[in-house]
Amino acid sequence: MKSLKEKIVQEGKVLSDTVLKVDTFLNHQIDPLLMKEIGEEFANRFSDQVITKVLTIESSGIAPATMLGLVIGAPVVFARKKKSLTLANNVYSSKVFSFTKNETNEISVSRDFLSPDDNVLIIDDFLANGEAVKGLLDIAEQAGANVIGVGIVIEKGFQQGGQNLRKQGIRVESLANIKTLANGQVEFFD
Ligand code: 5GP
Repeated sequence: MKSLKEKIVQEGKVLSDTVLKVDTFLNHQIDPLLMKEIGEEFANRFSDQVITKVLTIESSGIAPATMLGLVIGAPVVFARKKKSLTLANNVYSSKVFSFTKNETNEISVSRDFLSPDDNVLIIDDFLANGEAVKGLLDIAEQAGANVIGVGIVIEKGFQQGGQNLRKQGIRVESLANIKTLANGQVEFFD
């Protein structure tokens, strides 16, 4: 997606060979017009599928997932990272190791919001080692829901997550796929 790649080049900050900071439009401040385009792009790419639920993880997956939900008219469910008292035990949960925070979170989704009748599209902001997506797949599986694919705003293709998911036969669509962050520069796969 051209406009996204341009935005990454203009505003992204390469913090190391493995971490990209995009807090001017995705991870802290949000660019709503770009998010709208992102929602439309995901909807186009998965237009051959009927999606009944968009599933993401708080917090940075929520903006792109909501824009997609708006375009296709499907509800958006986000996995919580902190146990909520109101959720009690009525949840599906999974453990997710965070690449950027170097900590493990137990993520959870209420059993009320996913069922075997659902056709789920998983959305997230970044794909690195695939831990977050793996946790969401686990939750969808516990619910007996059908996962039609995974939509990622920024994949870091030099890490293993995307490759592992595709090897498992899971459809992964990323809107920008980074080849390398070496020397402080962002280079994309074509
Ligand atoms: P994974 O679970 O695939 O290893 O990592 C994906 C998750 O870690 C995303 O939800 C995202 O929040 C965070 N993440 C991974 N790499 C980056 C990065 O380079 N920059 C930012 N801002 N977040 C990242």
